[in-house]
Amino acid sequence: MSGNVTFTIIKPDAVKSGHSGSIIKMIEKAGFKLLEMKLVSLTKEKASEFYEVHKEKPFYDRLCNYMSSGPIIVMKLSKNNAIEDFRKLIGSTNPQDAAEGTIRNLFATSIEANAIHGSDSDENAIIESDFFFNN
Ligand code: ADP
Ligand code: MG
Repeated sequence: MSGNVTFTIIKPDAVKSGHSGSIIKMIEKAGFKLLEMKLVSLTKEKASEFYEVHKEKPFYDRLCNYMSSGPIIVMKLSKNNAIEDFRKLIGSTNPQDAAEGTIRNLFATSIEANAIHGSDSDENAIIESDFFFNN
C-alpha cells in the first residue's frame, strides 16, 4: 500500500494532440482528486534536471528534447494507494505492453512519447511535486 499523494505530467505529445481533457477525465473518474495543477513549458535544462536519474541512459538526451518540445500539464493528486493505483491507470512505459484501457494504451504513440508520467514512489511524488509547486 502506498501513500495518498502522487504526481503526474501530461506530456507534450498528449497536450499537443488535444488529449488533456480526456486524460484528466480518466484521472478523476478513477477517484483521484486534484490538489494542484498548471500548464508549463520546460526549458531543456529544467527537463534534464527533472529526469536526472536517467542521465546515463541512451535515451536521456532525446527524452529531454521531447519533454521541452511543448507545454505540459503538471498535477499533484490525492487518493488512497495513490502511487500504485496511478501506475495501474497509466499502464506500462511502452504502449505496446500497456494494458487495454490504460492511458498509455489509449494515447501514447511510442515508448518515448508515452503521453503521461506517474511517480514511482511516495518519496519521488513529493520530490517531483515540489520541483513544480514549491519554489
Ligand atoms: P516510466 O515513465 O514508466 O516510469 P521510466 O522511468 O523508465 O518509465 O522512463 C522515463 C521516461 O523516459 C518514459 O516515460 C519515456 O518517456 C522515456 N523512455 C523510457 N524508456 C525509453 C526508451 N527505451 N526509449 C526512449 N524513451 C524512453
Ligand atoms: Mg519512471
